[in-house]
Amino acid sequence: MCRTGPLFSCRPAPSAPSSALLRGKKTGGNGLPGRPDRGDPPHLRKLEGDLSFFLESFKVMAIFVDAHGIFLSDITLTKTSHMEIGKFSFGIGDRFEHQGEAQLRALRKATEKGIEVTPVWNKSNREHNIVHSEPSGTRKEADAAVASLGWKGPYLVDADHINLTNVDRFIGYSDFFTLDVASCINKPAPPESVEAFRKSCALLGSRVEIPGIGEPVVVTGEMLERMAAKYLAAIQEAGRIYRHIESVKGAGNFVTEVSMDEVEAPQTPVDMLFILKMIADLGIPVQTIAPKFTGRFNKGVDYVGDAEQFAREFEQDVLVIDYAVTHFGLPANLKLSVHSGSDKFTLYPLMAGIIRKYDKGLHIKTAGTTWLEEVIGLAVAGGEALEAAKEIYIKALGRKEELCAPYADVIDIDDRRLPPAGEVAGWDSDTFASALRHIPGHPLFNPNFRQLIHVGYKIAAEMGSRYTGLLKQHREVVGNCVEENIYDRHLKRLFDL
Ligand SMILES: [Zn+2]
Repeated sequence: MCRTGPLFSCRPAPSAPSSALLRGKKTGGNGLPGRPDRGDPPHLRKLEGDLSFFLESFKVMAIFVDAHGIFLSDITLTKTSHMEIGKFSFGIGDRFEHQGEAQLRALRKATEKGIEVTPVWNKSNREHNIVHSEPSGTRKEADAAVASLGWKGPYLVDADHINLTNVDRFIGYSDFFTLDVASCINKPAPPESVEAFRKSCALLGSRVEIPGIGEPVVVTGEMLERMAAKYLAAIQEAGRIYRHIESVKGAGNFVTEVSMDEVEAPQTPVDMLFILKMIADLGIPVQTIAPKFTGRFNKGVDYVGDAEQFAREFEQDVLVIDYAVTHFGLPANLKLSVHSGSDKFTLYPLMAGIIRKYDKGLHIKTAGTTWLEEVIGLAVAGGEALEAAKEIYIKALGRKEELCAPYADVIDIDDRRLPPAGEVAGWDSDTFASALRHIPGHPLFNPNFRQLIHVGYKIAAEMGSRYTGLLKQHREVVGNCVEENIYDRHLKRLFDL
């Protein structure tokens, strides 16, 4: 999948500093240089206007020197995407495409409370394959929900975790693309690209001071070699996927995310610095970036790991992004994307505190949480619907290996704590719903039961119209569960509503 040919190479650093062109501070929400600080000489203010014009179509690299010719800083300005993702955005996954309105109602509630959150319908190629759905369905669902609720704000449809082999399936229906290049990490990049990266990094000097991070990043040749060995081929692959989408949709007509989250080893804030340098060097106008954070992000259940360490890394990533926006010229609205695997409730207040502290944006992806609420809703509805919910669990129990295989790295089920089929067969609505609903500390809540049902959506897909018929029949009760979950358990915690 990863080609190693030098389709794109890093731009070499200029050989010698030229005259000052503009100030390095970018504050404009449109990614154009912000107003020069008060006290800038008049010629700098003039240049700001001129460059805004050129930036419509060109990439500009500038370096700054003071009156004595001493090097101060550098900046690369990439043409800004016209389509921009808002400061806060929430990825709402919906396997069966029936909960678009219910999810949007939850986001509307947040907007009514003064927090504008952009809905992003995300569905991966893997989900489409398992459910036998098509990206056109996700687009249809999003458009219909927006029309039905009269949603006036922006919304996006995310081709989640795509690569060159499957992106074409999504291109006509998506305006957000998550370029998944995790499989290209640790693949070799062509030597000339490594050399170009090394030269490009020469401008950083030997110590990079990132405001807010106490220790400077000490840049050595060995470190650059290591970074290139780990990430350069992956970012080059992101460049290929980006250019392919751009060739079809046109620049600025979509939002780009680069994801590397589905791997074992987390990326540190220092890794993030060099990943962003590579992304900038290849001219990818990335607006969201999804690293693998420290700890386990199991599907549908809370975070497992050292939350304090997560918070430290998350904060440093935010500061590194800030630095990269200013110094590498990446889009000013670049923000972290957390592929949460749903329901990382422990992390929500930590992330909320950090983004508030620095006045930054955030994208959170959830997917399975809405599918699980469908099953809860059916259980609550009782009768035939409760029986279908039980059937999903009982069948999933019998096919555990097969269902868990695609999610091996992101689930952690203790078999001994899975309730036996015979026991679940006798449960009433309340017992089933309480075992599944994610209320930490609830005496009946069972995270093992929840994770197994999380990966069991294939069973519901196989039930076909029997399952979707029940969703339609119990639209209100299921929709209420979905809405309450997204608003009360997710958005409230994230945005302190
Ligand atoms: Zn992901």
